[in-house]
Amino acid sequence: MPRYFCQDHPDCLELETTVLDTRPGAVLLAQSPFFPGGGGQLADRGVIEWSGGVVTVERLEIASEGLWHVLAEPVAAQGAVLAKVDPGFRRLMCELHTMAHVLNSIVYRDFGGALLTGAQLAADGTFRVDFDMPGIYPDLLRGLDGPMNEVIRQDLPIRTFSMPWTEAEAEPGMFRSKSVSPPPQEDGSVRIVEIMGLDRQACGGTHLSFTGQARPVRILKVDNKGKQNRRIRVGFAD
Ligand SMILES: [Zn+2]
Repeated sequence: MPRYFCQDHPDCLELETTVLDTRPGAVLLAQSPFFPGGGGQLADRGVIEWSGGVVTVERLEIASEGLWHVLAEPVAAQGAVLAKVDPGFRRLMCELHTMAHVLNSIVYRDFGGALLTGAQLAADGTFRVDFDMPGIYPDLLRGLDGPMNEVIRQDLPIRTFSMPWTEAEAEPGMFRSKSVSPPPQEDGSVRIVEIMGLDRQACGGTHLSFTGQARPVRILKVDNKGKQNRRIRVGFAD
């Protein structure tokens, strides 16, 4: 698994860098502040500015040589560029992603270590998480916004760090997804996201710095998705 610049520098949303390679409609940057998408989190939006103008980044492609930025127009951006991530969209993704952690930590704690079977953040300011919870009635899950909002009120700090993959694998609950474990990074480590006093788990996405930066949430819907799965959809209370 490659290590992204944004994982080590989540607050850097504008970066002066250079074009390393081009192909029609896309550029490979020496370094990029963009999160390319993954783990249910949507890719960053934004633009690339250079001496010839400005162009929207339509999507990102992960390659062994780095991140390819697929451009909305077939321009030939070259040389020194300024890569700019859309701050509002990144912030929304951080907020939703953090609250998805809060939800899955409460479910893990209160429902016998129930694991995720899927998660998806949405641009409309909602997210859904699917849990493997046979025998749990949806009604039992509709009140989870109470404890989620309590975690916001507690304003818990959030930090990231690396640990050896084998050590993380040995710690119960560190890999929260039922079917997929995150692959180790090239140095054999895995990135851990910790909400201090609540939860820690392997994750490669971007998050808030404190839970209190999130707006209060409410459970929008709880569905049965087959015998095993419960799908919880969450939005903001306002
Ligand atoms: Zn995460």
